[in-house]
Amino acid sequence: MVGHVAVGGGLNGTTVSPVVVQSMTNTDTADAQATIAQVYQLWQAGSEVVRITVNSPEAAAQVGTIRKGLDALGCPVPLVGDFHYNGHKLLQAYPECAQALAKYRINPGNVGKGSKRDEQFAAMIEAAIQYQKAVRIGVNWGSLDQAKMAQMMDDNGKSANPLSADALMREALIQSALESAQQAVDLGLSPNQIIISCKVSNVQDLVLVYQELGNRCDYPLHLGLTEAGMGSKGVVASTAALAILLQQGIGDTIRVSLTPEPTESRTKEVVVAQEILQTMGIRSFTPLVTACPGCGRTTSTYFQELALQIQTWLRNQMPVWRSQYPGVETLNVAVMGCVVNGPGESKLANIGISLPGTGEVPVAPVFVDGEKTVTLKGDHIAEEFQQIVDEYVRTHYAEGGKLHAAKPGVIPILAI
Ligand code: SF4
Repeated sequence: MVGHVAVGGGLNGTTVSPVVVQSMTNTDTADAQATIAQVYQLWQAGSEVVRITVNSPEAAAQVGTIRKGLDALGCPVPLVGDFHYNGHKLLQAYPECAQALAKYRINPGNVGKGSKRDEQFAAMIEAAIQYQKAVRIGVNWGSLDQAKMAQMMDDNGKSANPLSADALMREALIQSALESAQQAVDLGLSPNQIIISCKVSNVQDLVLVYQELGNRCDYPLHLGLTEAGMGSKGVVASTAALAILLQQGIGDTIRVSLTPEPTESRTKEVVVAQEILQTMGIRSFTPLVTACPGCGRTTSTYFQELALQIQTWLRNQMPVWRSQYPGVETLNVAVMGCVVNGPGESKLANIGISLPGTGEVPVAPVFVDGEKTVTLKGDHIAEEFQQIVDEYVRTHYAEGGKLHAAKPGVIPILAI
């Protein structure tokens, strides 16, 4: 679907629905307690939909327990079941699983081979109709329907104007998704229950595929660069791909498929997805800290430490603040390293602090809504500045207080 938007004044100006942040667990779904814990953690970080693997009878048997466990924790986050190969059997054999999930992800390339493919696909769609669930037709180039690809290569070879191998692959992805969606509609699933994704791991291919999908269908689109990778490469590649498409109004739900480093939290993919949307001005999730990069004018690491401390503290407050102080997610805090840009940048933020650079008088003026208020000095600048931020939040965003943002959008069923 082209023309998503943007809560709080977005790219296109008109409000349709917010772009939804998704994530996926990496626990064994058969381990209900571990999965509950990770889904809860992802939700606390801000994930609005969480996908879980449903790959075996043992996993399917635990989905109802996982749903109940999350409900008992007050965590209503919708769960998407990720099915490959045996989804038709699992949805039939485990009705509690079929009921507990909000959406079924079906990969047309992994539904079944030959004559069984249509029958097994139909069984999953029938379950979605019976339980009134959304379906994501989720094509992935790593598991593209091989029979379809072989047929298209054959036809392409005979064509007077054959497509390049890359273009043929992109076309195969798109056709696989759209034909499967049409098949689901023909089986009786409402088009309003369908969302599509066509994931590839190359930025330019992803952009071309989704631009074409946006032109060729009205289904909501789930965006994600598959297998984005680890560390900064994964973040940069995902951001590059998603930003181009989001800027064009393409994309209704997003996921950043990072490979966590061994000790890294799974929640990083949620933070990155949120930061893509927030830094693009599409949605706000968490107060952001503007910090200068530092240079030879500030040779201590103090301002870096303060910026990190404040950003971490702000993010940690959000599970409570989100409901307690509506609009707080748009708060902007500046932590600057010296007098060159410090006062100017601090005045532009809701709250800013300009720390002393090397050789400057060891004082730190604080600006609130553009006005200089106090000047901090001594050994407790960090704690005192945090108190000022806390006080600002309590007085400016309390219920009935001054709201700085649009009301949070309601997540439509399609985007689940
Ligand atoms: S604000 Fe000061 S310390 Fe920070 S980058 Fe600019 S000149 Fe350097």
